[in-house]
This record gives sequence, structure tokens and C-alpha cells, in this order.
Amino acid sequence: MIRNLIGAESRAPADGADWLPVYNPATGEVIDQVPLSGAGDVDAAVRAAAGAYRDWSRTAVMDRVRLMFRFKALLEEHFEELAAIVTRHHGKTLDEARGEVRRGIEVVDFACGAPTLLQGRTLRDVSGGVDQDLYRYPVGVCAGIPPFNFPVMIPLWMFPLAVVAGNTFVLKPSERTPLGGARLAELFLEAGFPPGVLNVVHGARDAVEALLAHPAVSAISFVGSAPVARHVYTQAAANSKRVQALGGAKNHIVVMPDADPALVIPAILNSAFGNAGERCLAGSVAVAVGRAAEGLLDPLRDAASKMVVGPGDEEGVQVGPLIRAEHRDRVAAYVEKGVGEGAELVVDGRHEMSRRGFFLGPTILDRVTPGMAVGREEIFGPVLSISRAATLDEAIEQANQSSLGNMATIFTRSGRAGREFRERVESGMTGINVPVAQPFAFFPFSGWKGSFFGDLHVHGTDGIDFYTRKKVVVTRW
Ligand code: NAD
Repeated sequence: MIRNLIGAESRAPADGADWLPVYNPATGEVIDQVPLSGAGDVDAAVRAAAGAYRDWSRTAVMDRVRLMFRFKALLEEHFEELAAIVTRHHGKTLDEARGEVRRGIEVVDFACGAPTLLQGRTLRDVSGGVDQDLYRYPVGVCAGIPPFNFPVMIPLWMFPLAVVAGNTFVLKPSERTPLGGARLAELFLEAGFPPGVLNVVHGARDAVEALLAHPAVSAISFVGSAPVARHVYTQAAANSKRVQALGGAKNHIVVMPDADPALVIPAILNSAFGNAGERCLAGSVAVAVGRAAEGLLDPLRDAASKMVVGPGDEEGVQVGPLIRAEHRDRVAAYVEKGVGEGAELVVDGRHEMSRRGFFLGPTILDRVTPGMAVGREEIFGPVLSISRAATLDEAIEQANQSSLGNMATIFTRSGRAGREFRERVESGMTGINVPVAQPFAFFPFSGWKGSFFGDLHVHGTDGIDFYTRKKVVVTRW
């Protein structure tokens, strides 16, 4: 039974709370129970964070960083254990889980640069005998609400930067993958951070609503689906909190006729089917420009049908299960809908649904148009749609028609086409000859349009700006 972490105390939720089963999606077995905490539990976590804030926010930056280095060392020491936790309750392959943990640790590496990142600036003699100095201060109690699909990496996008800047934190992990956040918090305490600096309250909608309403919470970091991101942004802003809310995605991969097939085929497979398509940076629609489709279809069909589907901890497996049976069925329903709307089913991964666990194999639909549900809506599963465009202009237009704008990428040997794409495509993360355009920890991560609500993206210097407020001091002696 998973428990909340309030200060240094591992605590069960208030009496009467419901519990949800946590599954191993590769077997369908229940491996744990997670509490659905309510407003009282959230209040206890926020009070613990608020209580720790006074001392923590005045703790010397070098002391904060020393603890962060210890946390980083513990994450390295427990690297394989964390990856195994991710595979066990998310389902992704061990290699994908290792990649996730590594990208998460990189944010901790970045947070260790706080003595430089938190510096302000100064201008002496701004007018006769007057100096001006800009200082950065923490904002108070911050809260983080991650999605299910990166249970270690996404919490690490949030709390290390917040706490190194002097804030205290309440993390509400996804109720579908709560084990990563729970283990991170144990390692955080073991590193020596004072109790209350990081608190964990498990739950779902009620816990989120309580965080959004709590007067002592100053900032909310959210990552999840577009409708919930919009809701969180609106509610948090209405309650005078700063907020960054990252939403869903419908990412386009534009393939120009001059692209190198040896690069493009594995890239599309990786982008569309990596993490079983449960990735906000998954390539969902491949737009074949001109004659590019000719060289694309047969190799994609062959390679996708040969991909090894199975439990993520088995050697050689390339595509793990989906998170839940209902989600798998929703993805399968999209395939049916696509066929009903006139798409051609090139590879059908639904035969994998008969296995134990929540599997659906790589699936490809051809001749998808932006008007179809499969061309327009986020599927969040291993389903690749292929659409056609006569020109680069038309391909960019297709990508830009989407209400979402998380990632878009182009494969081409033409610098001019690549540059044109970079200039005109409306996506916050844009790739040129890369399958997954993920910014490193020291750059900001986020989409545009309906994929993001707020102005400061996560991590990078945007993260530092989000978790600090500036004070300008004007001095005359
Ligand atoms: P989700 O929106 O269902 O849940 C995200 C978080 O919000 C969870 O912690 C959940 O408990 C909470 N929540 C769910 N419904 C809620 C509601 N009605 N009110 C208040 N809180 C609620 O998302 P998910 O299914 O866990 O994750 C998948 C989604 O996340 C996809 O849409 C994916 O594109 C998106 N995502 C985006 C990014 C990004 O960087 N933009 C990264 C990863 C995932």
C-alpha cells in the first residue's frame, strides 16, 4: 500500500479515502494500491511544505546545492532500480526506462548549477549616486502534477529546480504510475534534505482540485492531457497562482523526397512506436511529400510488422504494453474509426490484444487526412498515420492545422527546406533530421498552441524564472 509523505512521515490518507489498484501492464496483475487522497491530506502536505519554507528559503545556496549533489549521487546509485520501477508499472522497455531516468537526472545536474543560475544583476550609478540590484527570491510552496507516461523524468523536471531555488514542494504523482515519484521522495530524504522540503500526496482529480484551491500554494507545474492542462491553467490563474501547464500533442513528421531512407525508416519507427506511442513527443502523422511515399510504405510495413512486442523487461522487446486495458481499447477504437473514415490499414497491431497484459502492436494507417479523427486527435498509442502532401508548403500547412503544437520534425537533405520548416512550423519543439526533438535539461521544454498554457516552459532558464520572483533594489547612500 503506497503512502503519502508528509514532512518526514510516511502517512496513510485520511479515513474513508478510496484506493486504486496499480497494475503491471505487461501482465495485467495488480502490484500495489494507491490512495486517492482528499483535501485534508493535501492540506497536511501543503502545511508541511509551508512550515519548512522559512528555514529552507534562507538556507545558503551552497548548502542547498551540496544536498542536490548527494541526491544526484543516490539517483546514479539507484539508476537500474529506478529504471526497473518504471518498466514494472509503466510497461516501457528497460532501455526506454533507462533513457527516461537519464534525462531526469540531467535536470538534477542542471539544478546543481544554482550558484550561477540564481544570480541577479547589478547596475551601479543608474543615475547620480543611485545603484540598482536585481535579486531572485523563491516563490513559496510549489506543486507538481505529472502525467503517467514518464513517472521518474517528469517529477524530476519539477521539484529539483524548485527546491534548489529555495522553494518547498508538494508532488502529486500520477495515480496510474505512482511508484517512481514515491521512490524519488525516499531518495530525496536519504540525501539529507530537511523534512517538508518535498512532500508527496497521492491521488487524482480531488487532490489536484485541492492543490489548485489551496491559498498557501504559490505555483503549479502541470504536465498531462490538453483538456486538463487548460483546466489547471484556468483554475490556478483564477486563484492567483503562477502556472505552467503542458498539454497533449499531435506531432507531424514531414518526409521530403530527398530524405535518406536509411535514416528515415528507423527514425519514424522510433518516433511513432517508441514508448508504445505513449510519449508527448511521439511522431503521430508522417507527411510524405511528393514521391517520398513511394520509398516509405513498403519498408515501413515490413519493419513495423517485425517489431517485437512484449514485456518491457524481456530481452529484445521493442514495444511494451499500453498503460491500461481501457486505454488500449480506446487506441484500438481509433484504428477502427480511421478505417471507417477511409484510411487504409497497412499494418494492424490489434492481434496483440489477445495476449495477457495490455498490448497492442505497431499499427499503420495510410491515406489519412487532417480532417479524420486519426489525423487530428491525439491517440497516444502505437498508431502511425501516413498522409500525403504535394509540396513542403502543403506539409507545413497540414502540421499547422492542428490545434496542438508540441513537436514537429522534418527529414530532408536540403538546408533550405529545413530552414523554411523551422521558420514556419508552429511547434515549440522542432526537429531537423531527428525523430524526437527533446530539448536537454538546460533548454526549455514545451509546445505551442493547445499543447501549452502559460509562458515559462519547464526546465532550462525558463524553469529558474518560473520558480523565482525578482526584486529590484534601488539604493542611494
Ligand atoms: P491526464 O491529463 O489524464 O493526467 C495528468 C495529471 O492530471 C495526473 O496527475 C492526473 O491525476 C491529473 N488529472 C487527470 N484528470 C484530471 C481532472 N479531470 N482534473 C484534475 N486533474 C486531473 O494525462 P495522462 O493520461 O496521465 O498523460 C498523458 C497525456 O499527457 C497525453 O495527452 C500527453 O500528450 C501528455 N503529456 C504531455 C507532455 C508535454 O510535455 N506536453 C509530456 C508528457 C505527457
